[in-house]
Amino acid sequence: MSDSTAQASQSQPQANVASASDSPASSAAAAKADFSDSPSLVELQRRCNEFTTARDWDQFHQPRNLMLALTGEVGELAEIFMWRGECPVGLPGWSEKDRHHLGQELSDCLIYLIRLATVCGIDLPAAAAAKIVENGRKYPTDKSFGSTKKYTDL
Ligand SMILES: [Mg+2]
Repeated sequence: MSDSTAQASQSQPQANVASASDSPASSAAAAKADFSDSPSLVELQRRCNEFTTARDWDQFHQPRNLMLALTGEVGELAEIFMWRGECPVGLPGWSEKDRHHLGQELSDCLIYLIRLATVCGIDLPAAAAAKIVENGRKYPTDKSFGSTKKYTDL
């Protein structure tokens, strides 16, 4: 574990990943995880702030540092998928150890994303909700349904 990872290793949320069947007939919908209702992003932000302040790490959490830390964690996330080839929805055949590791790296990314948004003054849940609305305008269902085209090409 790197020092930057150690900073992120607070009570990390774990994805509640539904176990996927090894059967190719298992539907993608059945393999998707249902998130827990809590903790909310606001609660996670509070916990991250407490964790950081308790260690006097606010002094290190400038936006650039956090962006670089997030980038490093995205690299660790990518490493999990490296050399595996295509991974079907639900990750059939993955061990519990691999799934746990995936949850940890996703959590590291989320934690740094929350910290980055916090120190940049971005209300992340509000920004994400607004972005989904904006994406809906860019990709109206009648033009984008079943299509991978960019909105500029619809
Ligand atoms: Mg990590």
